Amino acid sequence: MESRTSMQITGNIHWLVTYRLPFSWSFTRGQVIRQCRRRYYYKYYAPYGGNAPDEEGDRAHILALGRLTGAAALVGSIVHRIARDSLHARRSGRMWESATSSTAARVLLQQTLHRSENACQKGRINPKQSILQDHYFGHRLDEATLLNRLDFLMHALLEHPAYRQVLASDGELLLLDEVRRFTVADVTVFAVPDVLLRESGRYRLIDWKTSSALGSHLDQAIEQLNLYALYLVRSEAVSPELINCEIAEVTAGAGRRWRVQTADIEKVEGDATSSIAEMQRSLTDAARNQTIRANFPRRMETAPGDSVCAHCAFRVLCFGIPPESDWPLTLIT
Ligand code: SF4
Repeated sequence: MESRTSMQITGNIHWLVTYRLPFSWSFTRGQVIRQCRRRYYYKYYAPYGGNAPDEEGDRAHILALGRLTGAAALVGSIVHRIARDSLHARRSGRMWESATSSTAARVLLQQTLHRSENACQKGRINPKQSILQDHYFGHRLDEATLLNRLDFLMHALLEHPAYRQVLASDGELLLLDEVRRFTVADVTVFAVPDVLLRESGRYRLIDWKTSSALGSHLDQAIEQLNLYALYLVRSEAVSPELINCEIAEVTAGAGRRWRVQTADIEKVEGDATSSIAEMQRSLTDAARNQTIRANFPRRMETAPGDSVCAHCAFRVLCFGIPPESDWPLTLIT
């Protein structure tokens, strides 16, 4: 397949010219601006005329680049989806066989790969559809190895102590990957916990992590779960001492657990407030949530070989060259 730098988006995209996203905050949004201000601008402002009226780039192309997904991220998202759906079935009183979960995951991956490749070969993509970065840019993608990786992760999930405990628990599954909104500094904040379980009067928040190397991202994973605890405290008036958080490291079959303290809640609320203030300082018109590209420089000392830029789809805009493939995936056994 040929390498491409742009592609036609199907459907009516004239709405992009006037569409305006309201300002909101999420853990992911905070991470994006921390990593690269230019990426943040491309993802949340540049595609929309109502947010970036002076942007001269091809809005449809920028929107498409911001929605591309990497192969590893796609596999991880499918594991999350099957965890959600199988626990949803358990909440409804039906228990999935392990084989049902594994087969559903495989079918989902194969369908997504097929649709993504088809769309890219035809050069017409639907922004609502999952498109693989590798397909978009014409990189090689070995489906068999991806399926192996998925099988490995699914087996690890189904055997993971936290997953098995939730399946066996007679507690109440309150949330399964469902969006909740609350307010910090008068701004809408989104919380999407993978699992919220109430058992014996306590609340248990679980986040599945499918990446092999959590190490350097541990602080962020803790912050993310503490943010969901903040949602419980602020919106549901739950006392922090009643909340347990757990990072379930799927590949390691292990977990990190902690009991939330009031200090954790204060810290995560303070960090979210600072992040919101930084974002709002970069706006040219806060009431309209509008800004300009010049307020969002690229990463400092960036070059095409920069490790973050290397896998960023916007590299084609910043450097005129496609990102590197996140292939090959390492199979951890
Ligand atoms: S390529 Fe690098 S500088 Fe450009 S948006 Fe991506 S991370 Fe930022």
